[in-house]
Amino acid sequence: MKYYSTNGKVPPVTLREAVTQGLAGDNGLFMPERFDRLPDSFFDAIGGMSLQEISLAAAQNFFGEDIPADDLRHLVYDTLQFEIPLRRITDRIYALELFHGPTMAFKDVGARFMARLLAYFTRDAHREINVLVATSGDTGSAVANGFHNVPGIKVFVLYPKGRVSAIQEKQFTTLGGNVSALEVEGAFDDCQRMVKEAFLDRELNEAMTLTSANSINLARLLPQSFYYYHGYAQMPDKSEVVCCVPSGNFGNICAGLIAKRTGLPVRHFIAGTNVNDVFPEYIRTGLYKPRASVATIANAMDVGNPSNFVRITDLYGHSHEAICQDISSYAYRDSTIRETIREVKARYGYLLDPHGAVGFKALEHYLSSHDGTGFFIETAHPAKFTDTVEEIIGEPVPLPPALARFSAGRKQTTVIPATLDALKQYMLS
Ligand SMILES: *Cc1c(COP(=O)(O)O)cnc(C)c1O
Repeated sequence: MKYYSTNGKVPPVTLREAVTQGLAGDNGLFMPERFDRLPDSFFDAIGGMSLQEISLAAAQNFFGEDIPADDLRHLVYDTLQFEIPLRRITDRIYALELFHGPTMAFKDVGARFMARLLAYFTRDAHREINVLVATSGDTGSAVANGFHNVPGIKVFVLYPKGRVSAIQEKQFTTLGGNVSALEVEGAFDDCQRMVKEAFLDRELNEAMTLTSANSINLARLLPQSFYYYHGYAQMPDKSEVVCCVPSGNFGNICAGLIAKRTGLPVRHFIAGTNVNDVFPEYIRTGLYKPRASVATIANAMDVGNPSNFVRITDLYGHSHEAICQDISSYAYRDSTIRETIREVKARYGYLLDPHGAVGFKALEHYLSSHDGTGFFIETAHPAKFTDTVEEIIGEPVPLPPALARFSAGRKQTTVIPATLDALKQYMLS
């Protein structure tokens, strides 16, 4: 399989090149040059298959030409060492819980797969690989933990100083070893810009091999489609399923749309956002107007210029009409997110995190005027946002053991200004 750049100014590359480069040389994002449909027999049997079996079939479909079957099987099974259960909340609304991995957020799936694939492709390389990642919270922890102690790889995590929760911060600043954490004096968008600039910087690229682990990397994007098949497989009624995704950089939902393209019979997708509503506005008006992000209590979705937007428009041949046929999108302010967490707990006994609350609300809204049932992605465990959630529900949220382990660690970071020069100086020293 070849992968093309969404900017179309460089020739298509192999899987290995796409994964090690991260961003294409013309600043575009890589996409598979074709999507093969999985056979009907797969979807007929899916209800009786395990997460690992489903994921392996989906992985074969994407990577089967490039990775020998035994190696791929090992990569997939080693990545998915945890459950992704579907929980019923109401007769029509289900939560697909993506928070049972090591850092308790959905990004564990893509980050673990990518770390293993990168190590697989570079196992004979002589030069160290430097993974650069900008995070608004959960990416940093998932990537840092996914790569921690992987030989031949160094990780640099850039995050906006003072804008991630204490627990999120602990998950990537206490590891040490091959993981360096950089506190940037700016917003998430600054961190993302600095990473993009670093990839285009000649001096830095001559001095070291760089790659990205943000959701722009294909090796994180494609494996995220695995759990859409698995979510569908667990739905009791498969006749009219819709799927709702709380979205920031739109990598997660993009993977769901790719699953649909390969035959997953999900009827419609819903993208929920916080007040950073560039995408809902695009759906409404057809105009895409990126802007600076605003801080919210669903901070992993504080994105003003979603990087995967170009992949979605590419997937739909740049047709606004085609996009609207498959995706609806709604935005919610913090007060609504708070209310939703309180209400869903009181009424159904289910504790949402702020991002999942956006997913629940957007799905409920869509289903109020459409038939069918749906699941939303519960993207993180509520204990990752303890302060916010405890203040909303007025009672303590117990810390799961996986998170307690991190909070005991000692924070080690370097503070830098939000400029490429500062980043270069650090990396080259
Ligand atoms: C990253 C993240 C999101 C947003 O996912 P995208 O793929 O960037 O759209 C939502 N919720 C949580 C908890 C996250 O960490």
